[in-house]
Amino acid sequence: MPPQLTLPALHASHAGTWLREPEGPTRGCSKGEAIMAAADTPVLIVNAPLVATRLGYPDLSGLDLLELFAFVHPARFCVPTPRGLAHALDLEVPETDDDVPGLLQRAAGVLLARCGADDWAEREGAWSSLQSLVRLRWPWAQVLAAHVARPERAEKWLFSRLPEWEEAPDRPAPGQVLIEEAEIEGQLAHLTGSGAERREGQHRYARDVGKVFAPRAGRGAPHVLLAQAGTGIGKTLGYLAPASLWAAAAGGTVWVSTYTKNLQRQLRGESRRAWPERRADGTQPVVVRKGRENYLCLLNLEDALQGGFAGRAAILAHLVARWAAYSRDGDMIGGDLPGWLGTLFRKRGIAALTDQRGECVYAGCPHYRKCFIERAARASARADLVIANHALVMINAARAGFGSGRDQGQRPTRIVFDEGHHVFDAADSTFAAALTGQETIELRRWIVGPERKNRGRRRGLAARLADVASYDEAGGEAIEAALEAARALPADGWLQRLQEGEPLGALERLLAAVRGCVYARDESGGQEAGYGIETEAAGLPGNVIEAAQDARAALAAIRHPLARLGARLEAIVEDAPDWLDGQGRARIEGARHSLAWRIDLVLAWEALLDRLGGPADPEFVDWLAVDRSPNDAGAREFDVGIHRRWLDPMKPFARVVLEPAHGVMLTSATLRDGEDWESAIERSGARHIEIEPMRSHAESPFDYAARAEVLIVTDVRRGDMPGLAGAYARLIEAAGGGVLGLFTAVRRLRAVHGRIADRLARAGLPLYAQHVDPIDTGTLVDIFRDDPATSLLGTDALRDGVDVPGRSLRCVVMEQVPWPRPDILHRARRAAHGGSAYDDRIIRARLAQAFGRLIRSRDDSGHFVVLSPAFPSRLLSAFPAGTPVIRLTLAEALQRVAAGVSGAGADSQAEDRQPS
Ligand code: SF4
Repeated sequence: MPPQLTLPALHASHAGTWLREPEGPTRGCSKGEAIMAAADTPVLIVNAPLVATRLGYPDLSGLDLLELFAFVHPARFCVPTPRGLAHALDLEVPETDDDVPGLLQRAAGVLLARCGADDWAEREGAWSSLQSLVRLRWPWAQVLAAHVARPERAEKWLFSRLPEWEEAPDRPAPGQVLIEEAEIEGQLAHLTGSGAERREGQHRYARDVGKVFAPRAGRGAPHVLLAQAGTGIGKTLGYLAPASLWAAAAGGTVWVSTYTKNLQRQLRGESRRAWPERRADGTQPVVVRKGRENYLCLLNLEDALQGGFAGRAAILAHLVARWAAYSRDGDMIGGDLPGWLGTLFRKRGIAALTDQRGECVYAGCPHYRKCFIERAARASARADLVIANHALVMINAARAGFGSGRDQGQRPTRIVFDEGHHVFDAADSTFAAALTGQETIELRRWIVGPERKNRGRRRGLAARLADVASYDEAGGEAIEAALEAARALPADGWLQRLQEGEPLGALERLLAAVRGCVYARDESGGQEAGYGIETEAAGLPGNVIEAAQDARAALAAIRHPLARLGARLEAIVEDAPDWLDGQGRARIEGARHSLAWRIDLVLAWEALLDRLGGPADPEFVDWLAVDRSPNDAGAREFDVGIHRRWLDPMKPFARVVLEPAHGVMLTSATLRDGEDWESAIERSGARHIEIEPMRSHAESPFDYAARAEVLIVTDVRRGDMPGLAGAYARLIEAAGGGVLGLFTAVRRLRAVHGRIADRLARAGLPLYAQHVDPIDTGTLVDIFRDDPATSLLGTDALRDGVDVPGRSLRCVVMEQVPWPRPDILHRARRAAHGGSAYDDRIIRARLAQAFGRLIRSRDDSGHFVVLSPAFPSRLLSAFPAGTPVIRLTLAEALQRVAAGVSGAGADSQAEDRQPS
């Protein structure tokens, strides 16, 4: 019998509330009683914010077992539910809500007992950390104090325990090698293992991918391959086989880029078949590389530990410090820091510990040699395989264009874009320009530093380059001039001043004019009340144009001294003074680098303003927007500004990413539109550099005809909210959980969840929802995967970010046909690309992605349900050939869902079938 902690325990679900006294039996109680109990004595709970939401009492506090878990086992995975905790601690999984409080007491007992065990793997640093947590009055600290023994020797503090990275020479350019098909076959057989059955489609795919790594024929003429790879062909090993051969033979780096963190995790695992964890010299052949804003900044953490954070945020900082000592790579977002840790503390504490604002002082930082970001950058320069995301690959390619030698070395030249159907969207946001309040205040903070009342290390340009200012007169003057000019940028409180009609400075005046214009022209009415509003940047009133001209002049006045400063820094590095040691040099290089891309940013803003009032540029779509989110009072504004997108973002993509590369491939299960390649070719950007891409196609080995059914439910009317909620509840009941519900509007998702969550919970069918539960998306998917009775509702991010094979996902329900939102950008692209045919392509792609969630392995089966009285037949080619498609009533659909998919083949009732 595991040890049990004698403290009361509380559990709340949508079905009710349960309390267990230290010794007593578990009993159901009212929400009020639970709140009173928690106020009297500390109670054991799991996931306090979630329990607080269930009780409708935001101030709930208690002894959260997740916080204890994060202290005892930092950097270990745990699904943040009672069931997940039971799995993580090897305890019996609770069958009913009633069993949960007892489990919480046992889980607490086990965790505390581990602290006393000799083999506690994460003992190092625990005692010292606990002393600080006692001072901060962390509720667990007193309980833990009796279990964590004082070490015999003083513990090293985190910053001296972390290893230093090694500087290494740049890697030479990769050799020009040809990989033979026979070698690829052999490598693939090796990677899949001797017992694996040979999959012909996978072998053909791998051979096609091999062509991407051949030496290119001409400058600006990379090999470009579009590879449609049906789900289940084994595409990851299919491309890792030639990629690993090329990396070994050529001594070069292959970048594999993904859109979702989930695939990154999977790739990290699969790459182990081709590469060891470490090479003989201790370096890593495979590195996961993310944007710097994902990693812990040790200097920010030190600030936070030394008083920069107060109250609960300070406790979070100590738990993060515990984690940092055991983390694989310091990745806070989607790495080994539990996604739920930040949510437990409600504040934006996690973001404040990363390097969000580009304020890194590089070699001027005392932790530079241990910095996780620097370590990842160096490791990736020497890696055979870098696993990154689309945005980072594009940004690295873009910055290499004007960066220094080191950045050139980081330019990806052999790139596999997995989840290639997302490259267009990633390029769209990467190459966008947005002159908004949020963006411009960031620039002000970067130049001027924080406003006085803010605590912490954040410092402006003058402080970061104090030595330059004192050594170089012209450099010092440029810094002063930039500081002076930056006062035209928005400052803290800008949004409120805009709302009160009292803007300060040229940029705030522009934003005020923009905001006024957007509201004046808004015709969205009540339907989307509470969401963002926008208007075309055409026919603008005189006050907006005038304000834009003033703002443009103000931006130029910032850019000029920044450019002068850049030139001075270059001169200092070239003709280095005596005081400039290696570290100082690295810091100035770092400053030059961040100056260069900020100058670029300001130039893009100036160009944007330059155009306002003039003739429209057919290459771009410009609009004015007020970003809002719904709240109890209707809407909360959070940003105001002017936006610019490329009509075709693959144009800059082609120039920045494709043209300098040697081999690029885009692969996905949903690259083509049905059988048609045209839109995939168009959306690859290859034609912008006059290349006709190679194509490859491998059919999925799954038997969709036998294992899946598409059910189009024709009797739930659009706009009938009770009908929609009822349909969801009954489908979830019929399936017994395991339903992924997909929505195109957050408002409807919330309404449905609010109507059905209690009813389902009483039937033992937990329902979670994005935008409702205070849990990050990745963790929601972990919870969904962990319990086959659970269902999950969500929006776009779940449509293709979910990989849940097996019984946990057996039914996907879409609330309606996923029409694109008719915003200004969409209207412009629609007009340029064939009107409704363009819409249809988008919808088919969305349907194909959503359908792709259902069958993830050979043994999976299930239903794909669309609630749509009028589902156009022309969209049916979104589903794999042969999949039965049946139009039917809800009652009929419930019968089929309850019966499950037999796996015996299409039913004779199918009215509407796909050509196979
Ligand atoms: S080098 Fe920069 S990012 Fe790294 S710890 Fe120091 S300040 Fe933070």
